[in-house]
Amino acid sequence: MGANEANESVFDVYRDRVDRPLVRLFRSYGRPEIAWFGLGMAANVVARVASLLPPLVLGVAIDAVFVASDPFTLPVVPDAWLPTTQSSQFQLSAALIFGAFLTTAVFTWIYGIAANVFAHRVMHAVRTDSFERMQRLDMPFFDDKQTGEVMSVLNNDASNLEVFLDDALQNSARLGVMVLGIAALLFYLNAQLAVVTLIAVPAMVLFTLWFMRVVEPIYVAQRASVGDLNTRLENSLGGIQLVKTATTEDYETERVRRASYEYFEQTMQVIKLNYVYRPGMELLAGVSFAATYVVGGVWLFSDAPGPFTGELTVGTFVTFLLMTQRFVTPLAEVSNIIDQYENAKASSERVFGLMDIPVRISDAPGAVELTDPEGRVEYDHVDFAYPENALKAAQQEISGERVLHDIDFVAEPGDTVALVGPTGAGKSTLLKLLLRLYEVDRGEVRVDGHDVRELTLSSLRGAIGYVGQDAYLFDGTVSENIRYGDFDAGDERIEEAARAAEAHEFIRDLPEGYDTRIGERGVKLSGGQQQRLSIARTVLQDPEILILDEATSDVDTETERLIQESLDRLTKERTTFAIAHRLSTVKDADTILVIEDGRITERGTHEGLLDAGGTYATLWGVQAGEVETGSG
Ligand code: ADP
Repeated sequence: MGANEANESVFDVYRDRVDRPLVRLFRSYGRPEIAWFGLGMAANVVARVASLLPPLVLGVAIDAVFVASDPFTLPVVPDAWLPTTQSSQFQLSAALIFGAFLTTAVFTWIYGIAANVFAHRVMHAVRTDSFERMQRLDMPFFDDKQTGEVMSVLNNDASNLEVFLDDALQNSARLGVMVLGIAALLFYLNAQLAVVTLIAVPAMVLFTLWFMRVVEPIYVAQRASVGDLNTRLENSLGGIQLVKTATTEDYETERVRRASYEYFEQTMQVIKLNYVYRPGMELLAGVSFAATYVVGGVWLFSDAPGPFTGELTVGTFVTFLLMTQRFVTPLAEVSNIIDQYENAKASSERVFGLMDIPVRISDAPGAVELTDPEGRVEYDHVDFAYPENALKAAQQEISGERVLHDIDFVAEPGDTVALVGPTGAGKSTLLKLLLRLYEVDRGEVRVDGHDVRELTLSSLRGAIGYVGQDAYLFDGTVSENIRYGDFDAGDERIEEAARAAEAHEFIRDLPEGYDTRIGERGVKLSGGQQQRLSIARTVLQDPEILILDEATSDVDTETERLIQESLDRLTKERTTFAIAHRLSTVKDADTILVIEDGRITERGTHEGLLDAGGTYATLWGVQAGEVETGSG
């Protein structure tokens, strides 16, 4: 696949179509958790407002208690409620300051919990939903090997959203409360001096805007290079066997080193800028402090300077000076907030883009259950082409080259149909249509007279057992692996199935028998053992229809004999389709279909086809010869 096609992946297309992703995130997933969100926001506001009280109370106490120049008054609170003696005023102010700190602490705690519960619950729902959606995507999606990208959606994008929902939202609320709260308070205390103190705020805002403009492209580059780095790592580790056998470790290390260095450079640039920004903000706050100090100081010891009028008290002066320090942190968060917002927007676009990829193969409206299947299978003039890629598949465009032409045959219940023919002829493809992993382009595949498209997927696939070359085993115990798909099966049934699959003996010899854990993908079992476990799984499933994609595998003759015996037992009484390499399957099959270039070119029984003297006879001659030389 060329780079251009990779750029136009099904992901990109559906991601670009996502409209207002964050709004959608809140609508679809935020709503059920709205109470937590509200609680978090409310607690956040209370905590921030309370944190403004101590400087205010201190100013009032200075004027009323220490300098004793003014009466004890507080905003909002009626004077009649306040104490009149200095000592009780002092006690009240001390209690208020302590109470404010306590309130800030308690409500910060509440807000922290609520905001996190909100963020993580939302993300839990998003993750579960997108996974469940992703599993149902059509096969072409997985053929395009885009699982790496899906992993990154489920991991990275989910954490980006978590950070945004938790941090960024709360920080922006805090920013609003602090800036508005402080401004309101200062204007209430002394509107004229407030103008002086707040004069630095527009400068801070401008400075922040400048910083964002400079840092944004670097953030974008940084995100891209971390993406490259991850892709690099994933590719190198994914192909570890090739890397080892080709001894390209140094080459891979160099590639990773280069990707990592690029990321390092971008990160350093961001860090360097951050180290200009933060002290710059502190400096501006310092300017505000100095201006307030000079103007307020002159005002205090001589008289209202220049254009200023009225009176300034020492307490108000102190409150003002303390407040200048409160701007820096919330404002300095602005650039983080914006960055997290951009990240979250991109991430939620990816999440919803994934969820929006249309699924073609799903239960049709009014789909019927396949009950008590007999196992009669008909292919009625079937044509099929693989979609060129996942994008075309999603858009239902059929543009690939035709792989199957006019496939037409019937398998009666209990029949064995052997498919023979060269590699790439279309044998596996033909059987994938029976499982409805792909949709036919023309004609019909029927099971017990029902078009597979009219059956529910679960009842159709439940009636079909598949034993493939690549016996996939999950990380778990032996019995868990046999039970997979029939989770209620008891231990006796598991053992019975294992016996039928000729697997019981070797399982018994494992360190912990049926409770032995097998590693991811069953790496600790031999190929033959893995295959027998997968046969046991199918025996337990007890399907009416069986698909055998026979291994040409490298197992020894004894294992081969065991597998053969278990398969013979399995295929009895079931409609069986075998992509056959073993001569015995072919010979005893009720029907042999020779597939060449996507067409059935010969059909019949072993004897019939030998007599006909076509391709089959030739193939048979070659294979029989091989077996003779092999055993002789
Ligand atoms: P066989 O089982 O006879 O070896 P297959 O059914 O696997 O043949 O393949 C038939 C043709 O379809 C081949 O040309 C192969 O390249 C193509 N093909 C197989 N699987 C896919 C797929 N998932 N996507 C696109 N083309 C495929």
